[in-house]
Amino acid sequence: MRVGFKELFLNTKRRREIIDITEEVQKAITENDIENGICLIYSTHSTTAIIINEEESGLMEDILRKIDEDYPKNGIWLHNRIDDNADAHLAGAFIGPSIAIPVKDGRLCLGTWQNIFFLELDGPRIGRRVIIEVLGI
Ligand code: ZN
Repeated sequence: MRVGFKELFLNTKRRREIIDITEEVQKAITENDIENGICLIYSTHSTTAIIINEEESGLMEDILRKIDEDYPKNGIWLHNRIDDNADAHLAGAFIGPSIAIPVKDGRLCLGTWQNIFFLELDGPRIGRRVIIEVLGI
């Protein structure tokens, strides 16, 4: 079995933003020459998340609106006593920092309407680090 790594450093432009990283993840598999195995996509931040869903502009806005509804910026959050981003930490905690996807015949096993997205929850930021680890043969 082999293990390969690739890192992404993403610059975000808005407080909340969705960035499609599907192509970069697929490249990690190709560059590491893994045919069959598993791919882990992991964000190293407390105020970001990784999701899989359909890339459709209305849906992207719906996802951001749902995050705002569930984790309002002006909620009574205790973390805001020392910082002003409790909403972003909460969204990151409950959406989650990582996903794993099977790899078969050198390709991510994504459905026709599935893409991989990095969620910025407290931008804009420079150099958001995402680690892609590919394990397989
Ligand atoms: Zn904070």
